[in-house]
Amino acid sequence: MTDTKRFFTDCLLTWNRLHNGRSMPWKGEKNPYKIWLSEIILQQTRVEQGWPYYERFIEKYPVVHLLAAAPEEEVFRLWQGLGYYARCKNMLAAAREIAGRFNGVFPSTYEGISSLKGIGAYTAAAIASFAFDLPFAVLDGNVYRVLARFFGIDTPTDSTAGKKLFTQLAGEVLAKDQSAVYNQAIMDFGAVVCKPRQPLCTTCPLSTRCEAYNKGLTDLVPVKSKKLVIKKRYFHYLLLEQQGRIYIRKRREKDIWQNLHEFVLLETPAPATDAELLQSPAFRRILGKHPYKVVHSSATIKQQLTHQTIHARFIRLSVTRAFPAPEGFLPVAPADLGQYAFPKIIVDFLQR
Ligand code: SF4
Repeated sequence: MTDTKRFFTDCLLTWNRLHNGRSMPWKGEKNPYKIWLSEIILQQTRVEQGWPYYERFIEKYPVVHLLAAAPEEEVFRLWQGLGYYARCKNMLAAAREIAGRFNGVFPSTYEGISSLKGIGAYTAAAIASFAFDLPFAVLDGNVYRVLARFFGIDTPTDSTAGKKLFTQLAGEVLAKDQSAVYNQAIMDFGAVVCKPRQPLCTTCPLSTRCEAYNKGLTDLVPVKSKKLVIKKRYFHYLLLEQQGRIYIRKRREKDIWQNLHEFVLLETPAPATDAELLQSPAFRRILGKHPYKVVHSSATIKQQLTHQTIHARFIRLSVTRAFPAPEGFLPVAPADLGQYAFPKIIVDFLQR
């Protein structure tokens, strides 16, 4: 290790020992199942939001084989409101792999851990180091930022070359004999000292050798090559009600909210009025000429996902004459809707 890299590692460990007051509920946890659950639940989720979910999961499924044996619907219901449902699906698949392929014992090698469904390089390194003290460096947004600034690297972090470069550097500066402590330290350091905005450079123990600070580049690195493109989607949910029951179905398509339930959905490329929707060919295909009455039409509810903004409206229609159920839909009594897992936007509407 070069002198600068050793300085970096030593300073981080010293800062962690003397000044790191960041408390996180999972710090010091050694049980790989619990670490894995917390990492999956907290991906792209704030700690305050995700932690109550973690506690509910641990209470209901204290060991992995109980999670593996749980019905999918039950697990999705417990996950409801967290979003990113692919995570939940992969989590259940991984629990079943551990129960089957690994005889109920959480794998203790990096290769075994990363062979599980839904586990990427970051999560594998976190579990390998936190649970088993294996020498693997975590690389998340905080780590990219600290490394890019201290070493003055402007290679885009989302490019192939950038990923390779940062992975190699992260491995080089890792304190291999205390990987759990070091990994937590660098992530905490990125969160509380080398913050995205207004980093605490004047009091930072790394400042004397920090490239970005000494060259005035802290606002310019790390660099990302791609700009996030956010797509707008307009969902119009029809609550088709007949004889006191509402039609719902499970979303099967490879799209957001796969495996969650929803009402009859008309998606349009732009906002649409009730009149436009109710005269549309898609609506006619569902109800034909059956008489109906609009009982309620909601205002728009917005939900921001990572790559999409969903604008949803809900139109409740009472259909007086029997009509054939739309394909794939089930009639459900409103009182029983709580037994099904829905996307957050529908839960929000139902709660209103
Ligand atoms: S000096 Fe500033 S930019 Fe450099 S590592 Fe410290 S906080 Fe980050």
